[in-house]
Amino acid sequence: MYAAQNRCIECDDIITNPICPQCLAKKMRLVVSEVNPEMAEKINGIDLDDGETTCILCKRNMSLCAHCFSKDIYEMLVANNYPATKEFLSRFDFFLRRELSDYY
Ligand SMILES: [Zn+2]
Ligand SMILES: [Zn+2]
Repeated sequence: MYAAQNRCIECDDIITNPICPQCLAKKMRLVVSEVNPEMAEKINGIDLDDGETTCILCKRNMSLCAHCFSKDIYEMLVANNYPATKEFLSRFDFFLRRELSDYY
């Protein structure tokens, strides 16, 4: 039922939350800019539109799952000493749940 193109290019999981990195980056920038507008500028979507999964928000094709993209951004925030990583997690934790044990 699932073609290989429905899988994330990074973790190889079937993409179950089809929100593309561009749309996620937009949401994340809003959340992060409340705390640190400079940090928000560093959050950029990745254009990987070669997948067969379609973003539920913008209908763009996508091949990187929300989980992997959220994790990349979360790690960037931690590396830059962003002061509200827990707040970030609480907003986006459904993407990051599987990795939480690595951070606590
Ligand atoms: Zn992934
Ligand atoms: Zn989108």
